[in-house]
Order: sequence, then C-alpha cells, then structure tokens
Amino acid sequence: MWFISDSSRDSSVADITCRTMAARHLLFVALVVLVAHSSEAVKARYDNYKVYRVIPANKEQVKLLQEIEESNNGFSFWTSATQKGKPTDIMVPPHKLPEAENMFNVFNLEHSIMVENVQRLIDEERPIKKFRSGAGFGWDDYYRLDDIYDWLDSLAAQYPDKITTVIGGQSYENRQIKGVKYSAGGTGKKIIFVDGGMHAREWISPAVNTYMLNQIVTSQDPDVRALVDSFDWYFFPVINPDGYEYSQTTDRNWRKTRGPGNIFCTGTDPNRNYGYQWSTIGASDNPCSETYHGSGPFSEVETKSFSDFITPLGNDIVLYLSLHSYSQVILFPMGYTDQHLPDYDNMLAAGQKAKEAMATRYGTAYDVGNIVDVLYPASGSNLDWVKGVFNTPLPYVFELRDTGRYGFILPADQIIPSGEETFDALLALTKYAQTQ
Ligand SMILES: [Zn+2]
Repeated sequence: MWFISDSSRDSSVADITCRTMAARHLLFVALVVLVAHSSEAVKARYDNYKVYRVIPANKEQVKLLQEIEESNNGFSFWTSATQKGKPTDIMVPPHKLPEAENMFNVFNLEHSIMVENVQRLIDEERPIKKFRSGAGFGWDDYYRLDDIYDWLDSLAAQYPDKITTVIGGQSYENRQIKGVKYSAGGTGKKIIFVDGGMHAREWISPAVNTYMLNQIVTSQDPDVRALVDSFDWYFFPVINPDGYEYSQTTDRNWRKTRGPGNIFCTGTDPNRNYGYQWSTIGASDNPCSETYHGSGPFSEVETKSFSDFITPLGNDIVLYLSLHSYSQVILFPMGYTDQHLPDYDNMLAAGQKAKEAMATRYGTAYDVGNIVDVLYPASGSNLDWVKGVFNTPLPYVFELRDTGRYGFILPADQIIPSGEETFDALLALTKYAQTQ
C-alpha cells in the first residue's frame, strides 16, 4: 500500500524496510524455484481436450474452416480442411468447448466427437513396462532419439560391410540428423531414400522407418533380398530431431522445428521451408501457424543441411519416400500447382501398386493421388523439391495410420502391423523402381 499516516511514520519506515527485505527474500526464493523448475521439463497436459471431426458441406465451409485454422485462436487443427465432404479434425481445449459448439451450430457445420479426452489417449499410448527392459531397441514402444541413434550405431557395428552411419545434417539445438546407408556392394546402383520424423508428433513415422530398415537388413526371404540388394538405401528416421525430442519430453502435440519464430511462437514447419517454389501457396507467413514457412527458403538449419546432404545423391535417387501421419494416403507431387506433371500417370501407377500392397496383409485402405488433388495446395515441401530439382521418378509421402480414431497418438501396439504393411508397400514401389 502507498498511503502512510503521520502517526505511524517511524514504525512504518522500519516496517517498509522489513517488508522490502522480506519481499526480496521471497523474490529470491521464487527465482530459485523457477530456475529449478525450468531445468526439468514440465509436460503439457491435455486433460479433457476433445478432437472434433467436422465435415464441410460446401466450398464456403471449407474456406471458413481454413480461415479459422489460420486465425490461431486456440483451436488446433490435426488435419486441415481440404475439400467438401472430406473431414477435418480439430482439437479443442476444455475452456473453448462451448465456443466450438456454438461456432459449429451458427455455421451449420456437421460435426462429431472423435476423441473424448486427448490426455487419456496419451496416457494409454505406450505399454506399461513393469521393469526397465535392458533388452534394447524394438517395435513394441516409441523410443527417444538417443535410443534410435544408438540402434543405428549398433547396426553399423553388427553389419560393418553393409551398413554405414551417415550424418545428414544438424538441428537448431545442435543435434545430429543421423541415418544409415545400406549397400550390399557393387557400384552404379540407384538409390532409394526413406526419411521420417519431419513432423515431431507423428511418432509412427520414425517407428515405421526403423522397422523397415530392420527388414531391409535382416530379411531372409530370397526374393526380398534380391530386390533390396539391387539398390543402395538411405534411411533417416528423425529429420526433425529437436521437435521429436520436444514432443517426447514436453509437448506430445508439437509439430514444427524448435528454431526461433517470433517472441510469441517457436518453430517452423520444415515441410513448407524447402527452397523450391517456396511460399507460393498453402504456407503461412505467421510464425504462430503450424504451417509457418520460415523467414526464407531453407532458412532452417535442418532443411538447409539435410538438402545439402541429399544434393550430390539427387540424380541417382529413383525412389524417395517421406513418412508422415495420419490419414492413410499415398501422395505424390506437385503440391504447389494443380497442373499434373508429364509423368503423372507413371507416379499414379506406382502409387496404385503401393496402395494394393498396403491392403493385402490387414486390409488397410489408403487413398492415392497428387498432393493437390487429394489434399490441398502446399508449397515448400521436400517432395516438390526432390521432384522439381532432380526430377526423381518416384517421390512419395505416405500418411500412415490411422484415419482419426487415435490420430497422431497411435497406440504402440500398432507399430508392428503398420511396419509390416508399409514395408509391403515399399517393396511394391521398389519392384516398380526396377523398371525406371
Ligand atoms: Zn507430417
């Protein structure tokens, strides 16, 4: 309080000094507590967050949903609005639920609830381990970056004549983008390149990437061996390592890199930051957007260093596969234009083979098509870049399981079946690549 009466001045001065000292002490204690807290990550919680599925009935509703996404007003779009009749999934925090319901009703948007409580999905995503298994790496759980990298190193140690670890780049927080090259020997082979973990929260992507790498190295099937060994392979399970770690330690729903944006928001969407037709369409200049394209083409160290690594290999890459989730679609370029490329039919034909192979084991249904036709225009993707710069014959994105029941938070017991069916699809593409 600022007012002090005359009669109480002396004692009050002492009082104030005392209070000031006490306040300083309190401030000091608070700072110590803050520092102590900031050194250990506090995980974001998603108690009672719901995911709504909204189905736009017409173009106006699609546009409205896209405007709501771009406004960044607290609704988190797990999938963007694309076309009329195609669902978009929106995560809503509990305090915004009445606002969301009101908005859906006012604009007459068809909606239902896909996920009742996001935190419950997070809590049930991973197996309960009774004890810390010392058994090492596997596909019954999602693993931290260091575990994945240790496993890559162990593969190189176990198969020194076939596997070499390679550093494909680095991250803003100085982590390596580590991968492996697999080669059964010989020269002049075409390259198949498989990346994963570009978007941090899409955990099934690194898991399927390593599952398939393990199959490439260990499969005893003579047909698979002959097919696989006719190519050289590169696997990079986590090309956004900072984001992936952040999604493990701090925020399960993190998507972007961890580089600086503005004072309010962190990170860039690496899949809008590649330097081919950068920022022409379907990317945001707002650092708070999930599709922020960065301050310039290749402004992010992850995309710059990784593309520098790929460039000398570019003309030898026959098949480039980038693993994302979710929605079960197989996509090919371009993303920046609705014009079909001259080899559209070829990319579609190979994509159809992948789709058929994907369904054979468990009946898992995928859609296949050009990025713009199936989703929406988006510029600055790595797929447009490899196609645009190297004219790679077979560039694909697989948006892996599922179709929204769990979304990004796919239970770990789906890693192996996802890995199996995706490897079937990869083999179908590999067989097709032999004809290119
Ligand atoms: Zn993604």
